[in-house]
Amino acid sequence: LLTARNLYKSFDGTGVLKGISLDVDKGEVLTVIGPSGSGKSTLLRCMTQLEAVDRGEISVCGETLVKTGENQSAVYSDRAACRRIALHIGLVFQNFNLFPHFSVLRNIAEAPMHVLGKKKAEAEASAMELLKKMELSDKADFYPCQLSGGQQQRVSIARALAMNPDLLFFDEPTSALDPELTGEILKVIRDLAAEHMTMVVVTHEMAFARDVADQVVFMADGVIVEQGTPEQVFANTQSERTKAFLSRFN
Ligand code: ATP
Ligand code: MG
Repeated sequence: LLTARNLYKSFDGTGVLKGISLDVDKGEVLTVIGPSGSGKSTLLRCMTQLEAVDRGEISVCGETLVKTGENQSAVYSDRAACRRIALHIGLVFQNFNLFPHFSVLRNIAEAPMHVLGKKKAEAEASAMELLKKMELSDKADFYPCQLSGGQQQRVSIARALAMNPDLLFFDEPTSALDPELTGEILKVIRDLAAEHMTMVVVTHEMAFARDVADQVVFMADGVIVEQGTPEQVFANTQSERTKAFLSRFN
């Protein structure tokens, strides 16, 4: 469903992604762990087209973007493929990124109406359905600032799901939350995993990264240092770098 091949990305001449390759199959959950500054968010931003790679190949749901690196400043030549890929994916950020001046309901229904051309009634009915799933039925008319961080994050997950994505990306979805609110978001993601939603999750929650994943990637300094099943990466760690990182969480 998702393939990345030899992704390279630099900022101001400093390499942030230095040849990243990974594959995610349909229904699989990939968790990405690694120290601060290792390039995890950049990787997610590149795979979701918020950022163009300097070089490399990305395929999502059969749509392929290739960048040869000959013209560093050029964006992907195939703009139509970028747009088609955008329709297949959803992204949930660390800081929720809800529209502050829209109600909860409108935050969720807006994109299905304007991007997918759904009728208002239909978009709002689906939004209500998703709010129910997130146990937020009573918050439809609230504004984001009236909600707890955990509730806001559940709205942003509902907003991503409203576009009916084939693949969901999460960038540290709990790191802006108090510890007691972290659990409710991790539960939502676990529930989605149980429904076989394909997901890529960057997280600092190690127990979660191990439990929810089919595949774990440990990144440091723009490269994948270690990659495998949770058992391989957490219980049978090969690299000293990974061991040192994981020991900080024990
Ligand atoms: P964290 O765990 O703290 O979120 P991360 O692994 O997500 O870290 P990135 O945000 O991908 O790390 O950043 C990797 C490196 O790239 C950092 O050194 C950062 O300063 C740099 N970087 C990221 N985005 C930009 C940008 N837009 N312009 C310049 N440098 C950037
Ligand atoms: Mg980050």
